[in-house]
Amino acid sequence: MPDFGFSRDEEMFRAEVREFAERVLSPMRRSWDHDRQYPLEQMQRLLESGLPGRAREIGPTNVLRGIFAEEIARADFNCVYPLLPLWAGPGGSMEGMGLPAPLAEQVSRGERLQALAITEAQTGSDAGHAGTTAVRDGDDWVLNGEKNSVSTLNADYFVVFARTGTVEEGAKGVSGFLVTRDSPGVSISEPFADMGNRATPRGVLTLTNVRVPASNQLSGVGMKASGFEHIGRILDTNRAIIGLICLGAAAASVEETVAYAKERVLFGRPISMNQGVAFPLVEASTLMEAARLLCYKALWMADQGLRHTTEGAMIKWWVPRLAGDVIRECIVLRGHMGYTEELPLEQRLRDVLGWEIGDGTPQICKLVVARALFGREAAPL
Ligand SMILES: Cc1cc2nc3c(=O)[nH]c(=O)nc-3n(C[C@H](O)[C@H](O)[C@H](O)COP(=O)(O)OP(=O)(O)OC[C@H]3O[C@@H](n4cnc5c(N)ncnc54)[C@H](O)[C@@H]3O)c2cc1C
Repeated sequence: MPDFGFSRDEEMFRAEVREFAERVLSPMRRSWDHDRQYPLEQMQRLLESGLPGRAREIGPTNVLRGIFAEEIARADFNCVYPLLPLWAGPGGSMEGMGLPAPLAEQVSRGERLQALAITEAQTGSDAGHAGTTAVRDGDDWVLNGEKNSVSTLNADYFVVFARTGTVEEGAKGVSGFLVTRDSPGVSISEPFADMGNRATPRGVLTLTNVRVPASNQLSGVGMKASGFEHIGRILDTNRAIIGLICLGAAAASVEETVAYAKERVLFGRPISMNQGVAFPLVEASTLMEAARLLCYKALWMADQGLRHTTEGAMIKWWVPRLAGDVIRECIVLRGHMGYTEELPLEQRLRDVLGWEIGDGTPQICKLVVARALFGREAAPL
């Protein structure tokens, strides 16, 4: 019989992260969204709080990382992406990608920012057919191409996926490379005017004859699979984290709306006494509970070393959408004020929408699930 509870340590960790997030992050919520500023100071305050160290003491697991992400998102969705790399446990610093240990350490200490550069204009979801090339020249690789959707555009270095093999090899011919921001031939666009997740700048990275030493080829570092296949495993777990981030934002919205519905008196009674108000929140809570169980199950599977590609894809097509639907419902239940920037609801709606797309669109994720149901041939990717 599965154990559905969190351990005492996990519960305590959740309470500590919640306290930190409510005290340090919540008051700044609107400014990051308005000013599109990366929360560098809050990263420092997280490190000073000792919470990453606490996670190490407890014995960091993917489940604990999920708790961390969910709690940060409850307070402020915009801070999750910047703060998550400070997590030194599994999944932090693109663990397992073969990043040099000192670099991974610097990332977890907040001294360097990293970014992942996969998506290209011509190939999009078909990332296995990346057009960016890496050609060997003596002891170096020379990279050429353009990545058109890089989050953390302010990063110090980029993990860039480029083709080392033939086009026919597909993803097997794609490898990861470390490219530092200051390398000659690197050019970085102005950030996009994104509708949400505004604290994290996203934009275009162009590589023109960028030379990196052979040691910067990540997939070369003791891996059986190509770097690209390895990133697929990382994304499987990340999709459960994304699910919990979206659920954190939705849960905060439901709690605030329940409190409001109990307070707001119309026609002589609290509006919560109308089933038209209570039932949408009942339905939201029920679906969110199921979604949360699926997310934590996937993270538990990751911790057991079990493959969770299907679970990750189920989460990714469903949960960000569910969270968006729940937040939208909460906006309507808050009446005209729900439609203003005074309440965090409109910001959360914009923020979660981005995660319907990032790290795999709903359609691509449904194809992954369809493959599990019908076989690979029935759902070609
Ligand atoms: C907030 C955010 C952050 C991101 N961060 C990063 C990042 O850090 N690094 C990075 O590399 N990328 C990042 N991305 C890019 C993201 O991974 C891509 O947007 C995504 O993979 C889809 O690629 P595309 O936008 O080119 O759409 P396309 O692949 O062109 O797809 C367009 C539409 O067609 C649908 N579609 C495509 N193929 C099929 C099919 N076979 N069947 C049915 N429907 C199909 C898609 O689902 C989509 O709705 C981010 C995106 C967002 C929104």
